Amino acid sequence: MAQNSPSVLRMFCRGLIRRCAHCGEPGAFFISWFKTQDRCRGCKLLWQRNMQGFALGALAINFVLTGGSLIATLVIGVVTSYPDLAIVQVLVSTVGVTLFVGIFGFPISYTTWLAVDLIMRPVESGELANSPTE
Ligand SMILES: [Zn+2]
Repeated sequence: MAQNSPSVLRMFCRGLIRRCAHCGEPGAFFISWFKTQDRCRGCKLLWQRNMQGFALGALAINFVLTGGSLIATLVIGVVTSYPDLAIVQVLVSTVGVTLFVGIFGFPISYTTWLAVDLIMRPVESGELANSPTE
């Protein structure tokens, strides 16, 4: 089954919306929000592509997004309430946004990292074939 690789932009956009970067299958690797399966439902691409440390890249993306949202929320809260700092409101909104981005962004960071991985190391012919029927 020969399949042309999608463009870099298309793969990245698919990753950002929690789809398989290779075939575009929605929720391709996810059984639930946090639980994954080994292969994509659409193209049978192996989730971690036999790469040790795959999760580290995904976690780095999630860490940057979560940390960035924490800092942005904190700065916006301080700037908008200056000079009478609304400490409790700023902290509550900062914690809320940070938790939301961390949890909501978890699977997206994985599919985005898969897109980055696919951009750097395109799919080889053997990766899609010979997948066991599930
Ligand atoms: Zn796929």
